[in-house]
Amino acid sequence: MARVSKEWLCPGEYASGLLIGMKQISKKQSTINRELARIKRDLPQYCCICHKYTSTPQLMHLLPRSLYPEYITEEWNLRIGCPECHSRYDNDRNFRKQQKEIVETIRQHDELAANRYFGL
Ligand SMILES: [Zn+2]
Repeated sequence: MARVSKEWLCPGEYASGLLIGMKQISKKQSTINRELARIKRDLPQYCCICHKYTSTPQLMHLLPRSLYPEYITEEWNLRIGCPECHSRYDNDRNFRKQQKEIVETIRQHDELAANRYFGL
């Protein structure tokens, strides 16, 4: 029986309350979580935006998992962020748009998604 580990969730998912209190998850979800855990483990603990070391690294989806579930475990779509930058990135489109290297990475993989998500 797998449990939702709160480490792997975006702040938005907490806020939504959808997963709060959920104890059992599907087999597919647990495969995804395992893959995300592996990816996170292999990344250095530095925020991809402010470039500072973070003792509370969060795995960020550059294109959010809610809108682009097909990219949920794509390594190009995953970075480490500190909680502050992660939250700002998810919630502030202008801030997101300023992250040139991230915008460029996304453009290379899905130009349409980049245009939409960064408002290019
Ligand atoms: Zn940061």
